[in-house]
Amino acid sequence: MALKDIIGQEKALNILKGCINKERIPHAIFFAGDEGIGKKLTAINFAKTLNCTGTSDGPDLFADVPAEQDTAVFKDACGKCSSCIKIDKGSHPDIFFLGPEGDGGQITVSAIRQLEESLSYKPFEGEWKIAIIDNADRLNRSAANAFLQTLEEPSQKSILILISSRPDMLLTTIRSRCQRINFTPLPIDTMSRLLQEKHAEFDHEHASLLSTLSGGRLGYALNENLVTQRDWSFDIFNQMLGAPEDNIWEDRNAMEEWFEWGQLLLRDIAVYKTTGRADLLINRDKKDEIKKMSDVSELKGILKLSREFYTIKERLHFNLNKQLTFNYTSLLLKEMLGKKDH
Ligand SMILES: [Zn+2]
Repeated sequence: MALKDIIGQEKALNILKGCINKERIPHAIFFAGDEGIGKKLTAINFAKTLNCTGTSDGPDLFADVPAEQDTAVFKDACGKCSSCIKIDKGSHPDIFFLGPEGDGGQITVSAIRQLEESLSYKPFEGEWKIAIIDNADRLNRSAANAFLQTLEEPSQKSILILISSRPDMLLTTIRSRCQRINFTPLPIDTMSRLLQEKHAEFDHEHASLLSTLSGGRLGYALNENLVTQRDWSFDIFNQMLGAPEDNIWEDRNAMEEWFEWGQLLLRDIAVYKTTGRADLLINRDKKDEIKKMSDVSELKGILKLSREFYTIKERLHFNLNKQLTFNYTSLLLKEMLGKKDH
């Protein structure tokens, strides 16, 4: 694939296009936006475009850009040359991928030092050396300090692309040294239409469910397990209200995911409680269960629970104990849902 295949991020792509056309590529770029929205995909295809040795399809990348803003021919990745293929396979000697490692899920200082050294040499094959740093907000303190140095003393022909879905967690000193490009979710209707266009097997109802469940994040919507994951979180939610089993979450990622789904569900319960409208729900296909939960709960309790979920989710990054968190959450659910003043 190439940049032209990235759907729904015209603004971000236009900025990148401008950089390529003017041949003024920032030394450090920061892709900010929700998980599953296309940041990494864009970074990879931007890297492919910069190092592509083939011929691209040309000007149709930004077909909807007004003619006066569109400069003659725009270079895009061909997707077929050896450079493009190597980057897709993750085996290009000039492209580096970095992300959190190990139990703590952090980017370590040794990883940054190694990167710094790799960037200090001239490119081996391509025109540019490009480092893609995923979840850049997970740089630990010493790694962040080491990284600041990398940012301040850029190697020639090197580009750093930082990616984060929690941009505020990244040090301001790092953020301020990067050109920020925001990625935004697609409007639900647009996404629903795109999904149906691309996937003939999706009927309107399914496309619209995927659009709302994913919150307009295409990467999520196309994840085959989206509905299964939602159902899994729903089951645990219900179990917690009854007699829960122990050790229900596999690891921290599963916990994080569960709290995200839990927040969506609480949002739906609150929406139904205040409006009584099923058409405003995200989990539209679960409207009967949501109605039941909202009927037996007080709005105050639902909102309080939602705040608690938010706090717990934030604290998950500090390695909360799984079993204790589970017991605590389960208690909260029982206490705050199902209580209604009469
Ligand atoms: Zn190519």
